[in-house]
Amino acid sequence: IVGLSSLGAGAYVSRKVVPGKKLQSISPLRCPSRSLTSSGVPGKAGSNLLLYLIVGGAATGAGVYVRAFTKGVCAYMCSKLSHLSPAAPGTHPKVPSHVPFLLIGGGTAAFAAARSIRARDPGARVLIVSEDPALPYMRPPLSKELWFSDDPNVTETLRFKQWNGKERSIYFQPPSFYVPVEDLSSVENGGVAVLPGKKVVHMDVRGNTVKLSDGTQISYDKCLIATGGSPRNLPAIERAGKDVQKRLTLFRKIEDFRRLEKISREVKSITIIGGGFLGSELACALGRRARTRGLEVIQLFPENGNMGKVLPEYLSNWTTEKVRREGVNVLPNAVVKSVSVSGNRLVIKLKDGRKVETDHIVAAVGLEPNVELAKSAGLEVDSDFGGFRVNAELQARSNIWVAGDAACFYDIKLGRRRVEHHDHAVVSGRLAGENMTGAAKPYWHQSMFWSDLGPNVGYEAIGLVDSSLPTVGVFAKATAKDTPKSATEQSGTGIRSESETEAEASEVQLSESSSPTPHVPTQGEDYGKGVIFYLRDKVVVGIVLWNIFNRMPIARKIIKDGEEHEDLNEVAKLFNIHED
Ligand SMILES: Cc1cc2nc3c(=O)[nH]c(=O)nc-3n(C[C@H](O)[C@H](O)[C@H](O)COP(=O)(O)OP(=O)(O)OC[C@H]3O[C@@H](n4cnc5c(N)ncnc54)[C@H](O)[C@@H]3O)c2cc1C
Repeated sequence: IVGLSSLGAGAYVSRKVVPGKKLQSISPLRCPSRSLTSSGVPGKAGSNLLLYLIVGGAATGAGVYVRAFTKGVCAYMCSKLSHLSPAAPGTHPKVPSHVPFLLIGGGTAAFAAARSIRARDPGARVLIVSEDPALPYMRPPLSKELWFSDDPNVTETLRFKQWNGKERSIYFQPPSFYVPVEDLSSVENGGVAVLPGKKVVHMDVRGNTVKLSDGTQISYDKCLIATGGSPRNLPAIERAGKDVQKRLTLFRKIEDFRRLEKISREVKSITIIGGGFLGSELACALGRRARTRGLEVIQLFPENGNMGKVLPEYLSNWTTEKVRREGVNVLPNAVVKSVSVSGNRLVIKLKDGRKVETDHIVAAVGLEPNVELAKSAGLEVDSDFGGFRVNAELQARSNIWVAGDAACFYDIKLGRRRVEHHDHAVVSGRLAGENMTGAAKPYWHQSMFWSDLGPNVGYEAIGLVDSSLPTVGVFAKATAKDTPKSATEQSGTGIRSESETEAEASEVQLSESSSPTPHVPTQGEDYGKGVIFYLRDKVVVGIVLWNIFNRMPIARKIIKDGEEHEDLNEVAKLFNIHED
């Protein structure tokens, strides 16, 4: 099953660097390219960049699914939950009292860890305990492809079409992949079991034991904490009382997608607060509906433009216009002062005196890592970035690892970081799983993220991409091939996340350029395709590939090398941006 191997062993078939093959030669300039520089906003540079994003084909593991999958999931969950509840305090007869590998959290990082543990130790017995009632699933489609589905039952099927037209489910694996919890200890060759709808509330790291919300105790040999995060709310909304809260969505889970989808059919106006990836994706998704169903969609945020914390100003402005063209009433420079109910409507008062009337609010204002367990476990939470502090091997204590959104790790190239991206969850989960089985590997991989503003504009990014850093952008004219849709059609997988092995990354050779130096561009033109370099102390620490696809290994190599470059126009040529 492709999905399994891609998650577990990094065997992505698309975008792989062929060992020994020189990645590229520079083709002659076919059209003038342009470069733009920004000095960045002074202040906090290069830290906690949370870049996520978008569409395309969500990312991990192209699992093979059968149509009856959704029904199967429901049946599975019901049977599991009915077995397990009501649970008496103390140990539950169905849950093993001891497991060799215990994974806390049932998200992307935990699933990736389960895969890699099993890849290295085929007989391993792995228990995933998840507060979420669902089996492990990927979140990216919840704010993207699922909204563009023609299937009236999409909220039930949770299947979506990638840009290349291929259909898939958001679940990493069907129920049949998992071993029943009660059989985990006895089943031949082990397996992965999921205990859904259960929260770990206490960790005794000396006794190697956890306690669940129903009182069940489980001891472990090795434990992974992959608890992800919870959406933040705005203090102004928290203060506003129940009538406002009832009309608020904090978007993270399957249930949030289902609820918002229903609401979008019932109300006349939805306001999204937040200009980052999640807010912008949801704005574009709902904007489509605005045009077909007369729904008013407003997006407001304090920055000057969409994704203003990530993209340099000129590109953020361009993106804002693009979101507006998707049918969204975008209000930049908008800081919420208070929210109240007036008549049957919500009234959002802004600090500059403006008022916005709406029926429902979606707050997409960031994430708080789930670190409640730190207290009982005595684990350190990073005071700057949040999240459990771990070393370069993602280890918090000798037999406890942390991965995904909840990990504040030491990036051996870029320093301490916490990253809230799908690819990072996959790669760090996988690495933690490897290290739980004795690999002792450092986190060397620079995770990427992607974002598509519909099928025709997209980008991929890596490293520290923070608009407060100085940037240099080099652009060229795009062709019909330079779109996310075309990229997924060419790769045949729709997978926008990729993760080659360290050995493969080292084999990427950056060829010397022979192209003439591109000329400096004029601002405000259409940014067809290009490369944006983010600099810290003259070294490239982040790269955005704008409408350029399948070149992430080159970007990764540039960051890995960490060299000062005299002329970034020359470096941009490595990406063949002038190729048709
Ligand atoms: C709508 C949406 C769209 C996104 N789109 C993109 C994208 O396009 N590109 C991208 O790179 N990233 C995207 N992201 C971010 C990406 O999905 C996350 O970075 C990723 O899911 C993190 O994985 P994780 O395993 O660390 O955490 P999660 O996926 O959040 O999983 C954490 C799990 O732990 C469980 N849990 C928490 N506490 C406990 C406990 N005490 N006991 C038991 N279980 C517990 C939770 O219920 C959950 O199942 C998106 C996120 C969202 C919400």
